[in-house]
Amino acid sequence: MISLFVPMKHAIVYHEDFNKYDLGTDHPLIGDKPKNTMAFLKEKSILSDFQVFTPKKAEEADLLTVHDPSYVEHIKNLSETGGWLSEDTPAPKGIYDIARLATGGSICAGEKLFEGFDIAVNPLGGFHHASKGHSSGFCFFNDIAVTIEHLRQKQKLKRFLIIDLDVHHGNGTQDIYIDDKTVLNLSFHQDGRTLYPGTGSIETIGREDAAGYTINLPLPPGTGGRSYLQAFQEIVPPITKQFDPEIILYQSGVDSHHADPLADLNLTYQTYYHLAYQIAQLSKETSKKLLVLLGGGYNSTACIKSYYNIFCGLVGKPEYLEEEDIPDADPEAVKTVISHLKSSLSEYWNL
Ligand SMILES: [Zn+2]
Repeated sequence: MISLFVPMKHAIVYHEDFNKYDLGTDHPLIGDKPKNTMAFLKEKSILSDFQVFTPKKAEEADLLTVHDPSYVEHIKNLSETGGWLSEDTPAPKGIYDIARLATGGSICAGEKLFEGFDIAVNPLGGFHHASKGHSSGFCFFNDIAVTIEHLRQKQKLKRFLIIDLDVHHGNGTQDIYIDDKTVLNLSFHQDGRTLYPGTGSIETIGREDAAGYTINLPLPPGTGGRSYLQAFQEIVPPITKQFDPEIILYQSGVDSHHADPLADLNLTYQTYYHLAYQIAQLSKETSKKLLVLLGGGYNSTACIKSYYNIFCGLVGKPEYLEEEDIPDADPEAVKTVISHLKSSLSEYWNL
């Protein structure tokens, strides 16, 4: 008899308490996103392609592989009283445990990649604004870096690739790895001269022997899906193949969607499908381990649909959602930025 059983190779982590990562009803980050994402994935019959795991909170020792002890202490204290981490980031009571759970979700998903899974997703991951000793931008602990350090210790990995496509520049991750050539940190974001946090210029390429391992593509406001995909195509596959990562960490923020209230890029649903599809292909060709951290997205309807398309791209399901393309405001401006980045990287990468 022929067995029809095909083992699932995709994992997702989820915990009911993910929805407690809620910074208030008058704040762009409202906590029901993980639940709504899971419900939509289920409704569209794609959740069954993923085995669901329940994560545990990250241990304090895990946080301390990245964050300063005084910073962790500060979050603990804020969590007891409630308060503000920064002007844009309220710290509700209990946030220490919830932020540890979000971080534990990324660690758990990362571990699954060493237990036979080729793709693992944390819907509450990608807190890239958290630096070693300070943070803002709705982030408390940098789960990307904590997971990298966890896997570096446990699995002895030596080459990590971060592909951060959130519309905001991942300044925290950049601060942590600016001197570390084992972590190639590649970020596409809206130009920092027009958006929080203001960093991520082409000229920031990493320091000393890590030069070339921080890569920033700042895109002008009004960039649409067509130019974005063109930029991706010219930069990401060649660098990924040359670096040959042992794991890819994909921060797949969808606040680059045209309907997002916080930013000004004009990506559409189909853009996310194509990006996720290509990243999954790159993982197949290199690391065979892809950790997906869903990242930002602040239009509650658009972000759920965009995340769904990411899942379709990851598993190669061609039934993704489409909408009318939005023409680029200035395609020539994007071409100029791409060629500027290529020439600044020419010493380090063959592009
Ligand atoms: Zn963002």
